[in-house]
This record gives sequence, structure tokens and C-alpha cells, in this order.
Amino acid sequence: MKEITTKIFSLLVIVSLMVACGLDESMENDIIGEIEEKSIINQDPILRDFLKNHSIENVKIDRWEDGYILDNCLYVSDDELLERSKIESPRHFGNERINQAYTSFGLINTPGTSKRNITFRFATNFPSSGSGGEWKTAALAAFQHFSNIRNIKLSFQETLNSNQDIILETFSGGGPIAAANLPLNGAPGNRIRVNTSYNNSYNLNQKTAVMVHEIGHIIGLHHTDWQTPSANPNNVPGILINGTWNEDSYSIMNHIYNGQPFNWFAWLDLLAIRNIYPLDLNEKPAYSYVHSTTLKWNWFSTWQGYGFSNFQYHGVNGYVYLDQRPNTVPIYKFYSPGSDWYYTTLNPNDVNFSWTSQGILGYGFSQPGPGRIPIYEYYSPSMGFFFSTQNPSQYAINYGFTLSRIAYYVLSLE
Ligand SMILES: [Zn+2]
Repeated sequence: MKEITTKIFSLLVIVSLMVACGLDESMENDIIGEIEEKSIINQDPILRDFLKNHSIENVKIDRWEDGYILDNCLYVSDDELLERSKIESPRHFGNERINQAYTSFGLINTPGTSKRNITFRFATNFPSSGSGGEWKTAALAAFQHFSNIRNIKLSFQETLNSNQDIILETFSGGGPIAAANLPLNGAPGNRIRVNTSYNNSYNLNQKTAVMVHEIGHIIGLHHTDWQTPSANPNNVPGILINGTWNEDSYSIMNHIYNGQPFNWFAWLDLLAIRNIYPLDLNEKPAYSYVHSTTLKWNWFSTWQGYGFSNFQYHGVNGYVYLDQRPNTVPIYKFYSPGSDWYYTTLNPNDVNFSWTSQGILGYGFSQPGPGRIPIYEYYSPSMGFFFSTQNPSQYAINYGFTLSRIAYYVLSLE
């Protein structure tokens, strides 16, 4: 019988990633060995509860190291299961298995109004030089990429002290190319491991992409493509991050790494990370919505969900401030009951007396500048006004809108 200890362990689920699902099956079988799954579940009630709480069904289960590996991708150690059994219950997870993009077991606690500094330490044998040994350089670059995200409430710093938040270690042999823990109890995932058997499989820039992906897990991001049946570290429920979608082929958090070098985060990756770790809470995405039958548009600086009253979420037109900052101007929003049109403008005199004010969408800019993007105003005699960051906007072209002008400028996502 498995020994159960009450000691609090550091986080234990290792989500395996990237190449984990791409492992050669025969190779993995050599390492893991097949075990009949029902008997595994029956022998371990904590595993059974974990699977039930997370609505994990029809998953491939193998014993691996000191835990289980699910669908060849998600590693759950015995200690992890025990720790989670104390904090999870069906009421938290029962019906929250949703087919959506960015999900997470939990996030890092970021109390207060300043950044939370997260420290990481390299184990002494962590590869830092020699053929294929650029993992340390890659990791440092990857942490820096996260620190560089605009308005993020996290910063990352290397430490030599053993009280680090994250340890970077190695393993070798079979298994994924790298693995990372997820946050637990408000702390970041506490371990990233890289498989030195893959040292020469990727160059520095590709290793950086792998490390960015692992750090994504450390801060709580799940695989964007977890629904993909053929590549399935899936069945892990989570909470959708506002404004993200069911899939994003550009996401660094897709679970199969195709070898693309990492240059910068995909648009939805940025939106996801910025939405879960905002430093300045008054810097908000300007969400746009389109009516599903009339195709008329509406905009909000507070999240309205993926749909309401026949309006469907469309996307984000950059960021606006909720309060006035130096050099910013109000972006007014109006509604015309007669035409059922909405409109945003810097000039409240743009509209006639039959339009009603809906207040201020947020604060933006009348002039271009660093970190600002133009919002283009399109007009259709039958559908009213449409605002887009794109000129030409394919949507506007498709629906016969005509470009009027640059209406105003907002903050770029980046
Ligand atoms: Zn992953």
C-alpha cells in the first residue's frame, strides 16, 4: 500500500509538455510499461478522486516514477495527488470542464499593488555550455521575455540562494523534452526540468521557445490546444481567460513544439498573460462585440463574456485606460435608438441630439506615439460603425464598410 504522508510537499503535478506526446510509443513503453488502467484506478482512491474531480475520462494511465503519467503527457505524482486531495473538491471542479483555450489549475498570488518578484535557481549541473548545452542561456532569455511583457505583475530574477521559488534541474533518458510544475496554493510552479537527452535536438532559439512554454506552465497556463485528440495532455479542466479562444495555432502554449524559434508572444498569449497578471488594473482591453443578426457593433472596457443579448464577442481593439492619464483624452460612446447603432468618438459633437450618451469607453489618445496603435473607423449605411486596429480590415471589406478615418489611438497590446 502506498505510504501516505501528511508532510506538505512542494507542487507536484508535472505537466509534461511539448514533445511528451510526440514520444515514440515503443520508447515510452520501454520506460513506463503498460499497466491495466482500471486496476490502477481501483488501487488508488486518491487517483480515482482526482480523475473524478477533474472530469478526466478515458485517459491513458501509466505508472511513472513516483506517480502516474496520463495520456503520455500529464505527470501527477503521488504527493501531488495527496496535496490536491486536501484542497480540491467536486464543487470546485464538477462541471467546469470546458472546451476553451487557456486554462489553469491555479494562479500565482500577487497581493498588493507592486510586482511580485519570483526567483529561480539553476541546479549546479544545469547545462550552460558546450555542445547542446545552451539551456541556461535559453532559460534566462525566456524569463526575460516574460519580464518584458507590458504591465505584467510578475518579475523574474535569478538567485543563488536555496530558498528560490523555482529550481531548474535536469533529467535524462525517456520522457518529455522538458517538464514544469503548475502553481499551487498561490506559489508558482516550483520546478522546471529539461531532458538532457535532447540537448542537441534544438538550437538556442528553439530551446528558448521550450523554456518560454515551461515558464507559461509555472505561472499557470495550461496547453492552449488541449482539446486536440491526437495530442492530448488533456482532460485537465480550468478557467478560461477572458478574451481568449478555443484555439490559437500561434500560441507558445500549444503542447506540440514544431521547432519554430521564439521571437515574441502571440497576440492571444499576451492577452491571456496580461489578463491574469495585470499590474495596473486601470489598463483594460477594449472588447468589441457584433450583433449576430444585424451585424451592428458595440464596445466595452469591461468584459461582457463571450456573448450577451445576441451580441457575440469579436476581439480586442488594443487597451484603454479607465482613468485619465497625462496626454489622454476621453473616448465617448453613444447609442442611436433609431438606427440601433453604437459609436465611439473623441468628439462628443460628432453626434446629433437623437443619440444618447453611454458614457466613456475609456481614455486613449488623439495623436500617435510610442506604444500606441490607431483605431480605424469604418462606416456602412446599413450597419453603422465598425472600429478596427486593421487597415484594411478584412471584416470591413467583406461586409462593405468604407474606411472613414483614424478615429483615435489606444495602447498597443504589447
Ligand atoms: Zn506544456
